[in-house]
Amino acid sequence: MKAIQIVKPNDLRVIDMPKPEIDAHNNVLVKIKAAGICGSDVGIYHGTNAAATYPRVIGHEMVGEVVETGEGVTRVKVGDRVIIDQVTNCGTCYACRKNRGNVCANLRVRGVHIDGGYREYMAVPDHDCYLLPDSLRYEDAVMIEPTTIAIQSCSRAELCAEDTLLIYGCGALGSSLLRIARLSGAKIIVADIMDDKLAEALKNGADYAINTVREDLEARARELTDGYGPTVSIDAACTKDSLLTLLRVTGNAGRVITMGFSVAPTEVNQFVITSKELDVRGSRLQNKKFQAAIDLVNEGKLDLTGSVSHTFPFLEAQKAFDFVDSRDPSIRKIVLTF
Ligand code: MN
Repeated sequence: MKAIQIVKPNDLRVIDMPKPEIDAHNNVLVKIKAAGICGSDVGIYHGTNAAATYPRVIGHEMVGEVVETGEGVTRVKVGDRVIIDQVTNCGTCYACRKNRGNVCANLRVRGVHIDGGYREYMAVPDHDCYLLPDSLRYEDAVMIEPTTIAIQSCSRAELCAEDTLLIYGCGALGSSLLRIARLSGAKIIVADIMDDKLAEALKNGADYAINTVREDLEARARELTDGYGPTVSIDAACTKDSLLTLLRVTGNAGRVITMGFSVAPTEVNQFVITSKELDVRGSRLQNKKFQAAIDLVNEGKLDLTGSVSHTFPFLEAQKAFDFVDSRDPSIRKIVLTF
């Protein structure tokens, strides 16, 4: 079968590899139908993702059709349309015992540490397969994965209706966050440097928008919250200074959620955290949030159609990644189809 492998940074190839066979552990064979291109896939391609190892078949937003199941599999059957959880973990370390398998000490993410979804077939354990909503085409169903990332972040933030949330950054991550956060009933402020992204966020349910080029984020966020500051801030910008900015702006007893992977040193101080007794929490990947995302779609609370801007046949992955690099303003979600 064919697969897309990043042999080493900036070296993407179509390769032949053996079609996987199911066994007692990987007891479901899935024929991949669509796989999204995520910022982290682009990072692995360009060698800027510190977690990745090479050579690697990338792709972690993968959906497909079940074509074979092993003995005793009842969770899915042949013909089912599924999305595959990208997180695999050991199940025995401290994090796993605390039901935090997404930060397992032996974490292996499909498409990052082990081979992912840019290939024709994958053999995976049945417990990693989730049934897609009937209403979603495969291309759109890819968006369930970014949705799980947003659900994870909002759950780490313990976001609820009495909160005022600041989403810092209105790119792909910020817009997924907005879609989930608005379901909480919280008041939502979005901040970005681009007016068109802010306008889109306002259209999608944000209450206030701050352009951080023209306006002072801290002053304006305080003004919008009667001087208190947002009670939850989520960093979807992940720039060098974003953490300190959010620590400063967030109100007493608030939560600040980091989502970035930057290793660039950044200056913070204890006072800004201690004086307000802030909770600073990381949010990484997602912890068994696929069913929650799928339920929201099935209940009609979340519409995942309309996010995919471009599709490419998966054998033309090079073209797709070159197009990503062009930073064409029309790019939203790009999906490889099989
Ligand atoms: Mn992703």
